[in-house]
Amino acid sequence: MTANVKERRGHCLCGAITVTAANAGNGVGACHCGMCRRWGGGPYMEINCGSDVQIDGEENLSVFDSSKWAERGFCSNCGTHLFYRIKETGQHMMPVGLFDNDDELVFRSQVFIDEKPSFYRFANETEDLTGAEIFAKYGSS
Ligand SMILES: [Zn+2]
Ligand SMILES: [Zn+2]
Repeated sequence: MTANVKERRGHCLCGAITVTAANAGNGVGACHCGMCRRWGGGPYMEINCGSDVQIDGEENLSVFDSSKWAERGFCSNCGTHLFYRIKETGQHMMPVGLFDNDDELVFRSQVFIDEKPSFYRFANETEDLTGAEIFAKYGSS
């Protein structure tokens, strides 16, 4: 996951908020959990941007306290989702769609695969983890 880290810049749909992630990975993950699907209408397609993230246009940033361990940011003007952030570490998982597409991006993993509804399924070969496997791997709280 640490290979191919680089700076990525992105912005929301209306342009009020720009984001700069100094150490963004190239691995794309999808989260199928019920919260992400309710938030965005479908699986959350994200890249790990670490904790070194600069957000410009903060007056338009809204942050929703979505659980004990994480919060979710979005543009209050256009509604674009900007991040899922783990409170303890400051780690940002940011929607891949914020950033310009590039050929280095690889769809690598799917999490909460056990919460994925049956009406869709990605054909990509990825590492798939259930909720229980995630908590076992990264620790729960
Ligand atoms: Zn916006
Ligand atoms: Zn999720």
